[in-house]
Amino acid sequence: MKFGGTSVEDAKAMDRTAAIVGGRRKKGLEAIVVVSAMAKVTDQLLAAAAAAGRGDKSGALAISSRLRNRHIDTATELLDEQRFPALQTAVHQEFDALDDLLRGIAAVGELTARTSDLVVSFGERLSSRMVAAAFDQRGLNGTHVDARTCIITDANYGKAAPQEAAIEAKLTELVLPLIEAGKTPVMGGFIGSTVAGITTTLGRGGSDYTAALVGGGLHAGAIEIWTDVNGIMTTDPRICPDALRVKSISFEEAAELAYFGAKVLHPATILPAVQKSIPVWVLNSRNAENEGTKITAVAPKCKSPFKCIAAKKKLTIIDIVASRMLMSHGYLKAVFDVFDKYKCVIDMVSTSEVSISLSVDSNERLPEICEELSKIADVKMEGKKALICMVGEDIRGHNGIAAQVFTAVSHVNLRMISQGASEINMSFMIDEEDVEEAVRSLHKYFFANPDETIFDVDARVPATSRA
Ligand code: ADP
Ligand code: ASP
Ligand code: MG
Repeated sequence: MKFGGTSVEDAKAMDRTAAIVGGRRKKGLEAIVVVSAMAKVTDQLLAAAAAAGRGDKSGALAISSRLRNRHIDTATELLDEQRFPALQTAVHQEFDALDDLLRGIAAVGELTARTSDLVVSFGERLSSRMVAAAFDQRGLNGTHVDARTCIITDANYGKAAPQEAAIEAKLTELVLPLIEAGKTPVMGGFIGSTVAGITTTLGRGGSDYTAALVGGGLHAGAIEIWTDVNGIMTTDPRICPDALRVKSISFEEAAELAYFGAKVLHPATILPAVQKSIPVWVLNSRNAENEGTKITAVAPKCKSPFKCIAAKKKLTIIDIVASRMLMSHGYLKAVFDVFDKYKCVIDMVSTSEVSISLSVDSNERLPEICEELSKIADVKMEGKKALICMVGEDIRGHNGIAAQVFTAVSHVNLRMISQGASEINMSFMIDEEDVEEAVRSLHKYFFANPDETIFDVDARVPATSRA
């Protein structure tokens, strides 16, 4: 069971989390709990690290001090007099260590990726301790596990790759005995460590990934991702308030969706679960009775061509034009080798007689990439682009889908178009500023008459007129 930042954002949220886990235990199920940092804490830790890196010691310590107060206040509300002192001491010790670290970074005036991971790890280290203590007080036998003892990764700081065999061995050695002893292990998501014991992180949103690694590693019966929406929705409800809950979706569809911007799941989450055929659920910790979304191996048949619309912003399009060389042997390889060298992920590719257009979502190394590409071609970059991705396994069976999609967004300027080889997504690039308008138009067009076996249409009926 993984609880995201909003599901542990304050004492009340942690209380709800305890009630949800208690409900599972009452049914005779055993739970391992993975928690994110309290809502917004990761952003604030990153801001503190950045301030320290600029040499702004007092700015960094001010952020840390506000975070300390928030955690202590939450612990005060959460625990009784008997249990509070031990947690209070632990929280202060963590913040003292964080402050020392920030002072050190400020003194050097340089923030490395490795040190940034260490700073940001405090969020999950603290939240998991607090939730474990809360579970203990609420009769759930909560026991804190430092995730860094189990989640073994490589040393690619900021986006470390988990080593699944090592993780499985550690989970079996350290976590399984706790479950067998009737305890509820609570660990922080997102963080791990190298074999040498250096702290790493799995990338933003990485707690989902931890949940899948733990669920996969211990062959769980199910993985539950508890968040602040009723499940996977037809699109981001923040963009489109009348988005509908998708009752069930296939692994493949969910993976496309996550990769192409649906924040509700980390892109890599699904993989460890797919490999072991473990069902994944996305559920709402503020509305625990809701059925949520079930992610299944095979997609149930759906009358609509699409299940969801995802949008990913902050992309750059790179146009590479080399009229002399395009069709020559080895040219594409030479281009892709440059992206490979800088570990830059490409989202979309389209080629014409004389040019290749690519979209990429990481901007840090782009100047170097462009410089290298310039040796073999003319290169042009255009930032502030967004990708809209329409996902559904039933695209295959529908004729004329592209025409419908482009009719729905006929007023928006399309920059690149692609229909994935997997035939379960149709994507196009537009200007970032057109995203909201495009998503709403597409949603209106394709979800006006939703298939009731797949989508929760009850949510559309105003609460007062519901039976
Ligand atoms: P958590 O902290 O629980 O991991 P996140 O903020 O990472 O939560 O993800 C949940 C958010 O994802 C939702 O509040 C919603 O705004 C956003 N989101 C984007 N696309 C979708 C979608 N298709 N379905 C549901 N939520 C989505
Ligand atoms: N706390 C981390 C983040 O905000 C990881 C997570 O919440 O999944 O990115
Ligand atoms: Mg998340």
